Amino acid sequence: MKERTRIVLKSGKDQSLRRYHPWVFSGAIKKIHGPAREGQLVDVYDNKEEFLASGHYQEGSIAVRVLAFEPLETDQQFWDRKVAGAWKLRETLGLVGNDRTSVFRWINAEGDGMPGLIVDYYGGVAVVQMHSIGMFRNLDAIADAMQKAAGERLHTIYNKSGATLPDKAGITERSGFLRGSQAEGEVLENGYRFLVNWVEGQKTGFFIDQRQNRSLVGNYAKDRKVLNMFGYTGGFSIYAMGGGARLVHSVDSSGKAIHLTGENAELNFPGDKRHRAFAEDASTFFQNMREAYDLVILDPPAFAKHQNVLNNALQGYKRLNQKAFESIAPGGILFTFSCSQAVNKENFRRSVFVAAANSGRKVRILHQLAQPPDHPVSIYHPEGEYLKGLVLEVE
Ligand code: SAH
Repeated sequence: MKERTRIVLKSGKDQSLRRYHPWVFSGAIKKIHGPAREGQLVDVYDNKEEFLASGHYQEGSIAVRVLAFEPLETDQQFWDRKVAGAWKLRETLGLVGNDRTSVFRWINAEGDGMPGLIVDYYGGVAVVQMHSIGMFRNLDAIADAMQKAAGERLHTIYNKSGATLPDKAGITERSGFLRGSQAEGEVLENGYRFLVNWVEGQKTGFFIDQRQNRSLVGNYAKDRKVLNMFGYTGGFSIYAMGGGARLVHSVDSSGKAIHLTGENAELNFPGDKRHRAFAEDASTFFQNMREAYDLVILDPPAFAKHQNVLNNALQGYKRLNQKAFESIAPGGILFTFSCSQAVNKENFRRSVFVAAANSGRKVRILHQLAQPPDHPVSIYHPEGEYLKGLVLEVE
């Protein structure tokens, strides 16, 4: 076997790895012994040459994404074990073979011990998103492992890494089908039907992480006038209609998403006149708003993709939530979310708090929401807890 590249950390910089945090920052590195190419498997040692972890090397602020805290070979058996383990958890969660829900997250990066890898499952179709070259180089082995784990429950694998793979190492063929060729289909979530196009849709095609929070919207919707802001293909809207809303208005700046929202409403509630969809920018819609809604959902895209734009992002959340507080009807319910990894629970809550105070409304917290268990979070990697939500009652 070839000698593997060894990365030695500076004194004291081994603490987070000893607590199983799966990232090594470039600033922690004292010396690299051997070649260090993007995506290559490397071993990490403390400055007394004691082994700490193995992982994928990459250029940038996160230098190593850890795959294991013991010596490791990423052979087919390794991927078989990891991928089957992730599938087993979804079986435990009752998501595999569920006749009311056919869509779930199968592999959630660090949360499943596979940093850089996301796999979403859409009733027989797996959509793979690679965020690191190290994972990308193992794509075929991972696809084989997926086929073994899911057997007949998997007929199509689509690799959708065009927008997510770092622009390095000269990889040009970033997306394509590895098995089958089906590009779109209908899925079920809690018995509701949704059209998903995983090739052209945003992310892997659907925002699977809101499944439980959508159910909660359904519980609050009875007789309410609902505004689903940043609605994408209408997930929250369909649940609100199912929950007996008086009317539901879906807003999204993407014309394609709004078109699909209309189709999804028609699929679930044919001929139902309670729903309207608007292809409009959120701030324009708030400016020209005529209705006073009494159930508002705010689920904007990630405002902060990096730590260095955190302050702008927090301002953005404040402004947006303030508009909702200023316009929501008395006794209204606000569902407000942040999916920015760089914004933690406390920061998000503070932005919403300032927005509430500026509006002068009395606000109470009814629920604190997060991502569902098919998006597990390693207890050693709090950054994995990216989805935060608050359900607020506005007097
Ligand atoms: N709530 C959705 C997911 C929302 S993702 C669901 O449950 O599926 C964020 C959405 O915000 C995307 O669909 C994107 O098209 C939309 N968006 C981004 N910027 C916007 C803007 N300025 N105004 C309105 N919508 C916007």
